[in-house]
Amino acid sequence: MAKSIKDDTFRDSVSTISKDGKRNWIYAQKPKGRLQNARTIVTFFYLVIFFTLPFIRVNGEPYFLFNVLERRFIFFGVTFWPQDFFIFGIGMLAFIVFIVLFTVVFGRVFCGWVCPQTIFMEMVFRKIEYWIDGDAPKQRILKNMPWNREKIIKRSAKHLIFFLIAFLIANTFLSYIIGTDKLFQIIAEPISQNIGGFLSILIFTGIFYAVYAWFREQVCLIVCPYGRLQGVMTDKNSILVAYNYLRGEPREKYKKTERKEFGDCIDCMQCVKVCPMGIDIRNGTQLECTSCNACIDACDFIMEKINLPKGLIGYTSENNIVNREKLKITPRIMAYSTVLVLIVGFFVLLLSTRQDIDTTIFRTPGMLYQKQENNMISNLYNIKIINKTSKSVPITLKLESSNGTIKMIGKEVIIGKESKAETEFFILIPKDEIIDRKTVLNVGVYSGDKKIETVKTTFLGPITLN
Ligand code: SF4
Ligand code: SF4
Repeated sequence: MAKSIKDDTFRDSVSTISKDGKRNWIYAQKPKGRLQNARTIVTFFYLVIFFTLPFIRVNGEPYFLFNVLERRFIFFGVTFWPQDFFIFGIGMLAFIVFIVLFTVVFGRVFCGWVCPQTIFMEMVFRKIEYWIDGDAPKQRILKNMPWNREKIIKRSAKHLIFFLIAFLIANTFLSYIIGTDKLFQIIAEPISQNIGGFLSILIFTGIFYAVYAWFREQVCLIVCPYGRLQGVMTDKNSILVAYNYLRGEPREKYKKTERKEFGDCIDCMQCVKVCPMGIDIRNGTQLECTSCNACIDACDFIMEKINLPKGLIGYTSENNIVNREKLKITPRIMAYSTVLVLIVGFFVLLLSTRQDIDTTIFRTPGMLYQKQENNMISNLYNIKIINKTSKSVPITLKLESSNGTIKMIGKEVIIGKESKAETEFFILIPKDEIIDRKTVLNVGVYSGDKKIETVKTTFLGPITLN
């Protein structure tokens, strides 16, 4: 008897949780096929990039750094300081809108092909599991086996390798946050000098090990907010991993005899057996699906075997299944695209007008003017300079809008790379040239002959001038 696709009772429970609230461990069959091969190639480049990126340096500086502790971020060699947080925030907003737009069009393709959780789980840890424990049936046998020699050796080997990879990921992850120099310092120096760093490595290793050895698909199901939002982001126009129920139903076990009254699905359950999320995609689009493509490959293999066209499960939209409609540019896609273009435009504008040296000049609080020799009037100023570049910068100041002079207090100002400095200076103006109590002045900030910026400030003069 063919099963009805309209039966929605499967949504009442989660495939990985049993009726009595216990975890249903997923023994996914080893996937193979065209998309799995493509994913393996993508994973290779992905891992190369992931593990080498923290080591890439440009002019001695990391190319990428996400130092939340010191609030210092480097993306593609550009350093963002706390003062640049607005630009950083706009960049993040652009990224989020891009992900939303991408999801509206292509569903959770991001999860299957780019998300680190899926890549490491399915393409690294699960492959090791297949290598040591064997395919799903062998994994079940091993699970139910008493603790004999084989089981002890296999379990120890698997978990030791899992732990070592988790340790490697933890170190790499940490180097994205604190940088490779600091990481090597933690490794090289005695533990007592880097307790915090050492504990961080241990904690991250423990977390990654627990996630990949035990928590697994629950991350996508319970923890990941992106997965939860999928329901509101996708619609009938979105291209998702989907089962063509019009072609497949009514499903019936394969018989070599006439199948005219049945659909193409032979209810072989291969698409369910390979699913690492434990779902049956034939029930319709589900929150659990991470677009890992395993069911597409499995079904294509079966279709080939029974001489039917591939693609019973594939990347398609509900509109395509029902009405043979190609992807439409809907008002929703247009709206997200417009918002994205505007945000990216604003981000590029902010980035291109961003100063590498930030200068703030203000009159020293609580001070008026001072009478100096030669009929000169002076004001005392504080200057704060932030150097966001990766080299030291000498700073000189020039008065641009008056005949006065600038007299620095102390020696030449040189701001070290990626640091800030504060100092004081006087502006002296001949008394005869002061015509207002408060005069607006332009101070040019120079590095060598190169003008960095012009900063406005005010100069206080005597109330009675003549
Ligand atoms: S339904 Fe298919 S694409 Fe989705 S998680 Fe399962 S096997 Fe992967
Ligand atoms: S693999 Fe294809 S034919 Fe087999 S049950 Fe799944 S959809 Fe049907």
